[in-house]
Amino acid sequence: MWSQEEKKELTSRVKCRSSLIVFALILFLTYLTHFYSFLLFHTIAELFSVVIAFGIFIIGWNTRKNIESSIFLVLGVSLLFVGSIDLIHTLAYSGMNIFEGYDANLPTQLWIAARYLQAGSFLMAFLLMYKKINPNHLVIGYTVISTLLVVLIFNRIFPDCYIEGTGLTPFKIISEYIIIGILAVSIIVLYKNRKELNLTTFRLKIFSILSLIIAEVAFTFYIGVYDLSNLIGHIFKIISFYFIYLAIVQKGFEDPLNTLFTRLKQSEEFIKTALNTQMDTFFVFNPKNGKAIRWNKAFNEISGYTDKEILSMKAPDSYYNQEDLEKAEKAIRNAIETGNTTVQMELITKEGKKIPFEYLGSVIIDDHGDINYIVSVGRNITQRIQAEEEIKSLAKFPSENPNPVLRVSNEIVLYINDAGQKLFNIEVGKKMPPSLNNVVGEVFHTQIIHQIELELNNQFYSFTITPITEKSYLNIYGLNITERILAERRIKNLVSTISHELRTPITVLMMSLDLYRQKKTSLTPELQNYIIETGEKNLSLLKDLSEDILMLSQIDEQKIELNFENYNPLKLLQDMELFFAPFAQEKNITFEINISEDINMKGDIKRIDQVFRILLDNAIKYSHENTIIKIIVIENYKGRFNPKGKNGTLYQFKNSGIGISKDDLPHIFERFYRASNVSETSGTGLGLSIAKDIIELHQGEIFVESKLGNETTFSIFFPRIENF
Ligand code: ATP
Ligand code: MG
Repeated sequence: MWSQEEKKELTSRVKCRSSLIVFALILFLTYLTHFYSFLLFHTIAELFSVVIAFGIFIIGWNTRKNIESSIFLVLGVSLLFVGSIDLIHTLAYSGMNIFEGYDANLPTQLWIAARYLQAGSFLMAFLLMYKKINPNHLVIGYTVISTLLVVLIFNRIFPDCYIEGTGLTPFKIISEYIIIGILAVSIIVLYKNRKELNLTTFRLKIFSILSLIIAEVAFTFYIGVYDLSNLIGHIFKIISFYFIYLAIVQKGFEDPLNTLFTRLKQSEEFIKTALNTQMDTFFVFNPKNGKAIRWNKAFNEISGYTDKEILSMKAPDSYYNQEDLEKAEKAIRNAIETGNTTVQMELITKEGKKIPFEYLGSVIIDDHGDINYIVSVGRNITQRIQAEEEIKSLAKFPSENPNPVLRVSNEIVLYINDAGQKLFNIEVGKKMPPSLNNVVGEVFHTQIIHQIELELNNQFYSFTITPITEKSYLNIYGLNITERILAERRIKNLVSTISHELRTPITVLMMSLDLYRQKKTSLTPELQNYIIETGEKNLSLLKDLSEDILMLSQIDEQKIELNFENYNPLKLLQDMELFFAPFAQEKNITFEINISEDINMKGDIKRIDQVFRILLDNAIKYSHENTIIKIIVIENYKGRFNPKGKNGTLYQFKNSGIGISKDDLPHIFERFYRASNVSETSGTGLGLSIAKDIIELHQGEIFVESKLGNETTFSIFFPRIENF
C-alpha cells in the first residue's frame, strides 16, 4: 500500500519537474524580451500570469465537485478576478496608451488592488479550507468586490499609489507591507493545516506564497516602472502563479483518484468484513483456468485449506467428485439462462470429509457472452439433511409396522400402511373396510376409544380405534393376535382333554371300588385280582398324565437337570419292545429293529427312554393293523438331518398308518396340538412336544416326514456328547 503511494508521489514529482523545465524556459525567454523593450516584457509577463490565473480558474471550477476541500475553488475564482484586474493593469501600463487621461498611478493602483485581492483570497482560502462554499455566491462576491475596486480606481476615489515626479505614495508602500503581512499570516495558517494536506500541494502553495512575497518585497524597492525591482517582481509573480497552477493540477486530477481509491478501499474493507463474518461460504473463481479469485474465512475454515493452498488448487475440480461436477455444469448452464441457480453438492475437505452444501451460484459474463467468473454462496446443510432424514424415517415408521395402521375420516381412508393394504386390499382415498364400519361410526359418535377383535383371512386381529380430538379423523391400530387366540383355544382344549382323560381312569377306579364295597364278602379271587389290576392300570395312567404335565412345567421353568450316563440303545429299544408287545399284538403289529450291538451313547437314560416311549406309543396308536414298525439307528450319520455335519447318531421310527396332513405337519410338535384325523384316538397332544424338548436338552434335533394315510417317519439326530 505505502510503496504504491510513494511511487505515485514520485511519478508526480517527475512530471512536475519536467513541466518546471518547460516553464523555466518560457520564463527565461520572457525575461530576454526586456532587453528589447521593457513594455514588451511587462505585457508578456503579465499576460503569462493572466493566462495561468485563468487556467487555474478553469481547473478549479471544473474540479470543484471532485475535490472535497474548497481551497481550490476559492483560489480559482479569486484568480479569475485577480487575473482580470491584472489584465486591465497590463492594458493600463505606461506606454500602452489605451486608457487616455491616466498616468502611471492607474496601473499601480490596479496592481495594489489586485495584490490585496490575491493575498486576501489566499488567506481566506486557507482559513475556509473545510467550509462548504457555494460557488455561485463566491463568483457574485468577487464580481461585486472587483467591480467596486475597478470603479473606485477609474473614478480616482481609490487612494493614490504613484505620483508623477514624486514616486510611490506611502499608501502604496504600506500596502505592500500589509500584503506581505497577509501573505505571511496565510503561510502560518497553511502550516498549521499541513497535516490535512498532501505534501506536494502543501509545498507548492508555500512556494507560491513565498514567491509572491519576494515579488512584493521587490516592489517595495520600486522606483520607476521600468527598473530592475519591477522586473524581478513580475518574474516572481509569474512563478507564484505557476506554483498555484501546479498545485491545482496535482490536486485537481490526483485527489479525486485518491478519494476514489480511499472510498474503494473502504468499501473493500466493508465487503471483506461482511463476507468474513458470514457462516455461509463465499467463493469466486474463473472457470477458464480454475483459478480462485476470492473466498471468505468460512470457506477456509470448512474446507480446511489455507489461502495459499486455495490459490494453487483448481476450482471447482479439486473440491468435488465427478458426479457433483457434472451436476455443477448443468447448474452453470442454467445460471447462464436464468441469472442464478441452486445446486446441492458435497464439498470434499482437506481431511477427505464430505460435507453436503447447497450453493446459490451466479455467473459474471463479459460483452461476448463468455463466463468471466462464477460466484457461489454455499450453505452447510448437514443438519438440514439429518432433520429431513429423521422426518422421512418417522414418516416411514407406521408403514414399517407389520401390523395394520390406518387413518380414516368420513368413511374414507386417509392413510393406510403396507400391512393394512395387504389385509384389507384397499388404498388411500378408497372407502373404509366394511368390517370396521360399525365400530368406526360408534367412535366418531362417542369420541371414546374402542377395541374390536376380527377374524380376517384366517387370522385374528385386535383393532384399537382412537379418536383424534378436535380433528375429524380416527387412527386405527391393528394387532395380529392369532397366536394368542390359538393358544387360548389350545388351553381350553387341554382343560377339557385333561378332564376327559382324568375322568376315564377315575370313573373306572370308582366303579372298581364300588364293586369291591358291594361284593366285599362274596369276592371270588378272580374278581379280586381284576379289581386290583384295573385299579393299578388306571392309577398308572393318572400318574403318567400328571407326570407329563409336571414334566412340561419343569421344562418351562428350566428346572430339569439331566443325569448323563452311558447307555446301550439296542438294550433300551429291546426292553421297550417287550413293554409295548401286548399293545402291538392287539393290532398285529411287528417290530423291526436295525441296530448294531456295540453302539454306546451318552445321555439321561430316563429321559431318552421317555422319548422312545412317546414315539413308539404314537407309532402303534396311529398305525394300521398288520403293519411293521421299523427302527433304524445309523452311527456317524452325515445326511440331511445333520445339516451342520456334526459327529452323532441318527434314530428313525417308521410306521404305516393314518399319516399326517400337510397342514398339520408344521404344528405337531406344539403343545396340545393334535391333527384333525386323530379324534377317534385318545391322547393329550403333549407327547411330541415333551419329546422335542428332551431332544433339544441333549442338543439334538427331531424331524418328521409324512403323507396323509401313509408312512410316517420321525428322525432324531443326537450329536456325540463328550463333555458331560
Ligand atoms: P399324547 O400326548 O397322549 O401322546 P398325542 O399322541 O395326540 O397325545 P403327540 O404324541 O404329541 O400327541 O402327537 C401329536 C399329534 O401328532 C398326534 O395327535 C397326531 O395327530 C400326530 N402324530 C404323531 N405321531 C404320529 C404318527 N406316527 N402317525 C400319524 N400321526 C402322528
Ligand atoms: Mg402321542
